[in-house]
Amino acid sequence: MVEKYADHKELLNLMNFLMPLISSNEDLRHQQAIIMYNKYWIELVLKAEEEGEKIVYNQFNMYAELFHVFDLVPVPPEIWTLLKCGLRDGYGMCETIDAAHEAGIHPELCSAHKSAIGDQLLGNRIPPPDMIVNPSFPCDNTKIAYQILAEITGAPMLVMDCPYFGPDIDEEAAMEYWVNRVKELIRFLEEHSGKKLDPDRLKEVVEEANRAVDYALEYASYRQLKPLPQPGPGGGTAMGGMNLMGLPQYTELMKGLLDDIKDRVAKGKTAVPEEKLRLNWFYLHAFYDRDVYGWLEREKGAVSPISFATYDRLEVIDTSTTESIIRGVARRLLQFPMGRQGTGSSDIYIDDCIDAVTRWQCDAVILSGHAGCKYIRGLIGLLRDELRKMGVPLLVFDEDTFDPRVSPPEEFHPKIEEFVDMCLASKE
Ligand code: SF4
Repeated sequence: MVEKYADHKELLNLMNFLMPLISSNEDLRHQQAIIMYNKYWIELVLKAEEEGEKIVYNQFNMYAELFHVFDLVPVPPEIWTLLKCGLRDGYGMCETIDAAHEAGIHPELCSAHKSAIGDQLLGNRIPPPDMIVNPSFPCDNTKIAYQILAEITGAPMLVMDCPYFGPDIDEEAAMEYWVNRVKELIRFLEEHSGKKLDPDRLKEVVEEANRAVDYALEYASYRQLKPLPQPGPGGGTAMGGMNLMGLPQYTELMKGLLDDIKDRVAKGKTAVPEEKLRLNWFYLHAFYDRDVYGWLEREKGAVSPISFATYDRLEVIDTSTTESIIRGVARRLLQFPMGRQGTGSSDIYIDDCIDAVTRWQCDAVILSGHAGCKYIRGLIGLLRDELRKMGVPLLVFDEDTFDPRVSPPEEFHPKIEEFVDMCLASKE
């Protein structure tokens, strides 16, 4: 049995080492928020376990405000496990993925879930949950994986049944049904936290989250500028929204991202000396291939102003009454990137992708097809047809976002390079 949370402690050491180097470099400073958020969250979870605070496994497509209202510590098991992806040269999740395979978990399951299950099976890798909350979006993988997690841990689980969204549905009735599921969630949290809902605390947490949302939306509008002022793939509320949204520390991180980009604009700085191409990465790219954006910036002058994970469709919640807050939280819970597109018809994903191309002025779309995401597989042809009408080329290739053994970067980098060269040539 390994030392308790050895990988996450190693990550903390790595972050403590990197932070001073990054924060003192103007061109790397934008990476500070993601490191700070991971560091703060790991410390929060380790402290919670030590002090016996209650932990909720919330599926990672859920914003965390409601959990903080009840002073619970949210630990989306997929996010906890995928932090390891950066360890061992990108092979950090392979041991736990293999443990799930060896226990009989089918290989087609999302590797984030396989690794989360492996964490449980091998022990000492993740703190145990006091309760589990699992909405029915975005995909079948989550539905089955959470049943397995509940079975192994023995924790009580609430499944939140999300209605179908898309064109030609009665949206008002669907929302009404969903608001009732959120009220059910509040009752579940009351029962298992032993606390009653405190309306003042609810208002306080949601107002804090509103401030973070304001910063995130303003930040996203700066990423629309041409040329792009800040390198890298940027950030959004999918970065930490599932575990820290509603805490002042999270708001500060969002403000840090905004401050950095505003400062760069004021100083006339751009992501690359000469911007030649703008890419929209409208799915999760391989987490073990993080320098792909830097590589394309340096070698091709191709920038990545928007991605699936940074595409936020949030609104500020009306906090005038408890009912308006609950309704606002319910609406927000349907907006998490990936969860939002997994609430029903493929029109949602396709319209969002087109909206991202249009508002971020992108020349091309890249869809790295994570092996687990069957719901995306079914819509690729429809998406290609719509993008063709706009004259926007699309690259699709296969990979596994968390397991480099399925398709290592050496296999798909030539495909990306060929595609980018073709886009550059056709622009010229
Ligand atoms: S939508 Fe894809 S990445 Fe997200 S949980 Fe499902 S399989 Fe995994």
